[in-house]
Amino acid sequence: MLADSDFSAPVLDAIDDPILRERKITLRMLRLDRIHPLVSGNKWYKLKHNLLAARAESHNTVLSFGGAYSNHIVALAAASKLSGLRSIGVIRGEAPKILNPVLQFAQQQGMTLHFISRSDYRHKADPEFIEALEQRVGDFYLIPEGGSNLLGIKGCAEIADHLHWQRKDSPHLVLMACGTAATLTGVVSALPSECEAIGVSVLKGPDSLSPQVNSWLHALGCTPAARWSIDTQFHHGGYGKTNPALNDFMKAFEGRTGIALEHVYTGKMMWGLYKMIESGEVAFGSEVIALHTGGLAQNIPSW
Ligand SMILES: *Cc1c(COP(=O)(O)O)cnc(C)c1O
Repeated sequence: MLADSDFSAPVLDAIDDPILRERKITLRMLRLDRIHPLVSGNKWYKLKHNLLAARAESHNTVLSFGGAYSNHIVALAAASKLSGLRSIGVIRGEAPKILNPVLQFAQQQGMTLHFISRSDYRHKADPEFIEALEQRVGDFYLIPEGGSNLLGIKGCAEIADHLHWQRKDSPHLVLMACGTAATLTGVVSALPSECEAIGVSVLKGPDSLSPQVNSWLHALGCTPAARWSIDTQFHHGGYGKTNPALNDFMKAFEGRTGIALEHVYTGKMMWGLYKMIESGEVAFGSEVIALHTGGLAQNIPSW
């Protein structure tokens, strides 16, 4: 079984930029993207208690859902293999003639891929749909899309243990990109009252994440000590969308810091952070930690 001892503790990398010095802001990135060669980012935290539960309930197969470029599917395929579990990935959309590198990697890790239409995919949480799947593929432990359930959130609470603050009397701010906001929910549930958390939503449209976070916190019986909010201004047109300005920003950031970002999650988070610093929304003298949640697929051949 894959265990915490197979992972390196995430380091905090300091970022230096003139605007940070000007505003006396210290900024570090928590490198969750570097904890394991194959199972990286926030996805390990979301998976670990799910894989333990699958084992404890004597399942030998785990099944989950994702798009054709899902970081969750990649992590699940690798983590299942390393844990001695069979894995099934139910993928949104028709089967392509040639698998993309993400799906090829998942398959090489031993994952069985099932492609379903976009209309069927919308029913992925319906009990009848799950039952029909079970009849087709046999018994499995179900992990929802993104690993975003209460066990996933429980794992993400452990990310807060790695936030080592340096300045006692400055405002403490932790920032992360949000898709489902399960990671944010976990972190917020474990933060002390002197910290604030901001989630940068990568989704377009009105904020659907705050109600979801509240409902998960309620299900956990948790009243968080820390303040938190979701920022919906930095999605750049919606999930997976990018543009030249965002691409240039990410390239320039990597050039200055050596830290690679991607356009789906971490690029939008860092873009949002610099905008919030420029606008004064991040208080003068703050200490900021931004989560590098991974997503670079740097270990996938020919990515
Ligand atoms: C999945 C993912 C996220 C989003 O996590 P949620 O818990 O769904 O909000 C953020 N960053 C990266 C790189 C991811 O792969």
